[in-house]
Amino acid sequence: MEFAEFAEHAAGIEAEPADLEVVSLVADLFAEADADLGVVARFVQGRVFPAYSERTLDVGPSLCHEAIARAAGPNVEAADVEARLAEEGDIGRVAASYDTGGQRGLGAFGATDGAPGPTVREVYDELAGLAAAEGAGSQDEKVATLFGLLSRCDGDAEARYLARLVLSEMRIGVGEGTVRDAIAEAFDVDVAAVARALQVSNDYGLVAETAREEGAAGLAGIHLEVGRPVQAMLAQAGSVADAIEAWETVAVETKFDGARVQLHHDPDGRTEVFSRNMEEVTAALPEVVEFAERHLDAPAILDGEVVAVAEDGSPLPFQEVLRRFRRKHDVERMREEVAVELRAFDCLHADGADLLDAPLTERHDALAALLAGTDAVSELLLSDDADDIEAFEADALEAGHEGVMLKDPESTYTPGKRGKQWLKRKPDVETLDLVVTGAEWGEGRRASLLGTFLLSARTEDGYETIGKVATGISDDELADLTDLVEPHVVREDGQTLEVDPQVVFEVGYEEIQRSPTYSSGYALRFPRFLAVRDDKTPESADSLERVERLVESQ
Ligand code: AMP
Repeated sequence: MEFAEFAEHAAGIEAEPADLEVVSLVADLFAEADADLGVVARFVQGRVFPAYSERTLDVGPSLCHEAIARAAGPNVEAADVEARLAEEGDIGRVAASYDTGGQRGLGAFGATDGAPGPTVREVYDELAGLAAAEGAGSQDEKVATLFGLLSRCDGDAEARYLARLVLSEMRIGVGEGTVRDAIAEAFDVDVAAVARALQVSNDYGLVAETAREEGAAGLAGIHLEVGRPVQAMLAQAGSVADAIEAWETVAVETKFDGARVQLHHDPDGRTEVFSRNMEEVTAALPEVVEFAERHLDAPAILDGEVVAVAEDGSPLPFQEVLRRFRRKHDVERMREEVAVELRAFDCLHADGADLLDAPLTERHDALAALLAGTDAVSELLLSDDADDIEAFEADALEAGHEGVMLKDPESTYTPGKRGKQWLKRKPDVETLDLVVTGAEWGEGRRASLLGTFLLSARTEDGYETIGKVATGISDDELADLTDLVEPHVVREDGQTLEVDPQVVFEVGYEEIQRSPTYSSGYALRFPRFLAVRDDKTPESADSLERVERLVESQ
């Protein structure tokens, strides 16, 4: 296909306001693309290489402006191009406003006056060569390549879309969904089959060509490949109550405060690590590679987080990981300063078997089998009991993690989707400052400490109970809180203590429910201790009236 023909199609698509029509126009383009279908399926989205590919053009605006100026003629400088850009706001229109093709024959790549414009394949090959240019002189080489291409662009549309393509600013209203639908329409295959093949490959060119050549059966044969990253499955915010209601049994995991990674291990080849955006970060994380090489003896694709850890193995804040992630220089020196470790929570592929369609519990079993005997596998609690989930969360928080993830144990792995199958526990809503009016002694190693605190809201003539808090408190804090509350104990009845209202706690919670359990008529769901409000007297703590207003607004 001539690049001019592609550009005419792009102009038609850009001019079309109706989404459905856009899909049909893109389908027409695909149907005419012949041997260039793979490239066209990417160009139309403003991409030169597949999304998972490491290759980038690395062409910045100034380099592009320089090439346009050169192609525009001897009297045009990059500054003129920039001045026009400031007026027009679109590099495509600026490129098209010059007679770039008028320079044909002036040293352009093999072009002579009257030579035809470039084909789609030639544009791709030239850009692939440009992406490979490195080192001293590569900037000049890139300008020369672009100049060569622009000089062969005779029509306005060719220059317009070439300039936009190299700056990844196609802006013709064609997103991934449009391309997916257009592949289905052009080659008469099911959209779901196209979507599925795209999920596992992230390669629009491959999927378009397979749909055309082999139809649905061919699409079904596209599998995960070790070394080719897929998009990460994402989470929504949700509460423990939502999770129990939706699935009954909830898979609960620690939410690690690190950076997302996808580990691809091939025992006969390379180990590669990709970021959440499928960017390769292998070189920055040698510990993860060494870990995989030591413990994995089958091909695998794992999903997880890298966390920074202190010498005793406890997690360090997220900022520490950032000092290591994507680092290209001084990796060994930084490794001395900040150690990182893998925490794996999912397994997409194990020893030849794709597991995307297997339920979470099965994928987790596969993960545990692959990494048996290591600390890298996230613990998975299966529970239908809110108290157990709360206790798991308390442990995770106490160990310094970010919180918990709640997952549907039956759910499949859906790359790139922010679905309801993975919930990150909702952050607390507005906090309440409540008065401690009772307490209970702890159990086991905490028997000499107070473990649970009864909380009350202020009313006109006293205090009404609203919940108990035992979550979110470390051992050290518990000792301090015991010292603080114990002097105010007025009655003791076995484990249970009555406390004079003197101390105010700030607490978080998921929601407030009407409940007969407490004298206020309300109960906090998942209360968590946040802080002692020693700046507040019990008289200035939150009133039952404020609680009622919060219930109304929930
Ligand atoms: P957020 O970044 O707030 O949208 O939370 C979702 C992110 O939490 C995921 O993309 C992961 O990077 C991270 N995460 C930490 N631990 C887990 C886990 N056990 N399961 C899934 N995601 C996790």
